[in-house]
Amino acid sequence: MGKVNKDEILSILDGYDKENITIATLGSHTSLHILNGAKEEGFKTAIVCEEGREIPYKRFGVADEFIMVKKFEDIVTEENQEKLRNMNAIVVPHGSFVAYAGLENVEDKFNVPMFGNRDILRWEAERDLERKLLTGGKIRIPYKYDNPEDIDRAVMVKFPGARGGRGYFVASTPEEFNKKIESMKARGWIEDEDVAQAHIEEYVSGCNYCIHYFYSALDDEVELMGMDSRYESSIDGIVRIPAKDQLELDISTSYVITGNHPVVMRESLLTQVFDIGDKLVKSAAKQIAPGMNGPFCMQTLVNDDLEVIVFEISARTDGGTNTFMNGSSYTYLKYGTGMSMGRRISLEIKKALKDGGLEKIIT
Ligand code: AMP
Repeated sequence: MGKVNKDEILSILDGYDKENITIATLGSHTSLHILNGAKEEGFKTAIVCEEGREIPYKRFGVADEFIMVKKFEDIVTEENQEKLRNMNAIVVPHGSFVAYAGLENVEDKFNVPMFGNRDILRWEAERDLERKLLTGGKIRIPYKYDNPEDIDRAVMVKFPGARGGRGYFVASTPEEFNKKIESMKARGWIEDEDVAQAHIEEYVSGCNYCIHYFYSALDDEVELMGMDSRYESSIDGIVRIPAKDQLELDISTSYVITGNHPVVMRESLLTQVFDIGDKLVKSAAKQIAPGMNGPFCMQTLVNDDLEVIVFEISARTDGGTNTFMNGSSYTYLKYGTGMSMGRRISLEIKKALKDGGLEKIIT
């Protein structure tokens, strides 16, 4: 099947009643502030909601319209796409939207105008492409090992499909790597083909900062919107157990995100923060035109040499933006109170509707 055609999307948008635009998204991930922010900017809102998951959206009153579906992926059925188009909907993608609707469906058959650059979603989903975006911008990333025999310091081992950290492990020698792999195979957690695809990278001993940016394609400016750090299970629970008990308990560690803390960085690091944000936007513009568009996030670790090292990126609104639904320390500096990522997206759409430039921000 061919890709969704941008000209077709723009002609659908042309036919929309511009006085009656609805901002829509899938009910999960960051939909609360996407829709709340849209309302604050005067838009109607709609949520595509899986049956049984409607309670938060009803209780918080963020959606004017509910499109109820049996399963999330039904957002791509012809019938639901038509409902969205009939509402003059612009859909805001987020992590769960891409995961549940399916990347291929979003690329090939979701014929509804979307905010952002549809083509960049694959670049954050595939580790090699993600690396290309980062190295193309000469951004410091963890050193990658092609061969487990070369392991000469602490490394983190990641498996495909294990995003969110389930099954990651740490090792410092080839022997330890092999031992842990054998034990995971024995438990049935991984197969030989997973081992062949294991991604081995330098373990960065540092503090976690996930940096949320907004790139305005209309103003050609990268804005710093907020930062969070992750609250991960079981690693953050394990550190509450005294070391001697940890050894006895033999609990396996995982890094599954369960929540986020808002955080700020020491001020002297902000020059690096803006620098890497600008570099990623330039790299994306070169490699996947028109490039970054709207929210993106760099997940980083800051070591004691005060290097900001990026281990992962999101090329759409990231879950950590939920830490600043009423604004962050950084949005306060630029906007005063109350600027969430969701509201910033709607502000951009509102500006394009008024002054032109929709074709730059809709895909
Ligand atoms: P990810 O699935 O890549 O988001 O990683 C999940 C978690 O693993 C992160 O939030 C970090 O706590 C940890 N992590 C990932 N990569 C590294 C690394 N290179 N060094 C140290 N910790 C890491």
